[in-house]
Amino acid sequence: MDKLNVIGSLREITRQMEMLDALFRHATEGIIVVNSEGTIVMLNPMAVELFGYQQMELKSLKIEDLIPARFAAKHVQHRGNYFAEPKARGMGSQMELYAKRSDGSEFPVEVSLSPFQTSEGQFVVGFVIDITERKKQEKRILEANLEIQKLNAELEERVQQRTIELAKAIRAVEESQQEVVRALEKERELNQMKSQFVTIASHEFRTPLATILSSSSLIGKYTATQDDDKRQKHIQRIKSTVTNLTEILNDFLSIGKLEEGKMQNIPVLIDYNEFCINLIDEASGLCKEGQKIHFKYEGKPQVWLDKQLLRNVLFNLLSNAIKYSSEHKQIFFKTAARAESVCIQIQDQGIGIPENDQRHIFDRFFRANNAGAIQGTGLGLNIVKSYIELMGGTVTLSSQLGMGTSFAVSLPLTVPVELAAEHV
Ligand code: ADP
Repeated sequence: MDKLNVIGSLREITRQMEMLDALFRHATEGIIVVNSEGTIVMLNPMAVELFGYQQMELKSLKIEDLIPARFAAKHVQHRGNYFAEPKARGMGSQMELYAKRSDGSEFPVEVSLSPFQTSEGQFVVGFVIDITERKKQEKRILEANLEIQKLNAELEERVQQRTIELAKAIRAVEESQQEVVRALEKERELNQMKSQFVTIASHEFRTPLATILSSSSLIGKYTATQDDDKRQKHIQRIKSTVTNLTEILNDFLSIGKLEEGKMQNIPVLIDYNEFCINLIDEASGLCKEGQKIHFKYEGKPQVWLDKQLLRNVLFNLLSNAIKYSSEHKQIFFKTAARAESVCIQIQDQGIGIPENDQRHIFDRFFRANNAGAIQGTGLGLNIVKSYIELMGGTVTLSSQLGMGTSFAVSLPLTVPVELAAEHV
């Protein structure tokens, strides 16, 4: 090699050295070179700055001096392993790495290692990046993510809540809609009832009123003493016609009260036998020629039942038995007051109820097709059934056309709790 070439090569080597030196000094990563004993042999200004040491101090330190004490011991072993099988790799992929400054404070780092060999032995160059800022960012992102998740959950909950509220509101609207429909239906029924009432009243009231009118004008004509029998007959006719009219009006009032839910079952202690006898007395006033109510009583003398409801049920059934039977037919009223219930049977020998009509017999305004000219509104049995149900009881009928009808009623006896001990 001539002299000129040697000078050229030297210049090239110098230029490359300068480049490497600049690279080393201006690198933004900390660069630390350690030997196989882990002693720091070289480090760039960035590494000096990162660890807060003076250049000279660092050079006499071991790499473990730059690691927090809790990791340092383990690191010696790691270092031994690494030098046994050196290869370029990153550090800390499985765990977070921390470095220790000269003042003992710690900071998170990312490290990558590269082994190299010189005539002086085995070395490792480590590139160290302070990732404090990145960690902070990561933490911020994590917190923001958690916040988003929380907001999401809140939002979802709010949506669910709103959905529930909406469903409730829809239900309420539907319910009020149904209520309106029900109210309209009730209104329609009421109107129908009113017009039925007008029809029935004009029809049913005309005959009794005409009877009262003719009987009273006849009474006026029977002035002689020997006419007393006739007078009494017409007075009796007026009385029973008025009773009949009153019953019709009572039925209408009862239906109204039932509709409004105003009827209540309030049991009181009744002398039942006496109660029945008085009622029979009253109903007997309606009896036709030769008709008689035969009464049979069994069981205990007193019962707890609602007087008004019971009276209405019995009077309705007895007056029907009389009304739908011809003269001289007999009516049988049997009752048994047992420990827990009262059984009633009212049987007649009247016109009977056609089989096809029997299942409608308790419907409002229903009249069997054999009722013909016999006066009636078709309300009585409907009220009877409602009252019996109000008392918690049951009613059944058996009837044979032209032979007679029998109604069987069963009413539970409930003694008020506060008096239960006295009336076992
Ligand atoms: P009303 O007697 O005013 O018509 P009810 O509701 O008391 O009304 O009775 C309904 C119908 O049942 C009567 O119209 C009649 O056809 C039939 N009915 C009720 N009781 C008897 C009975 N004891 N015998 C025959 N038919 C009866």
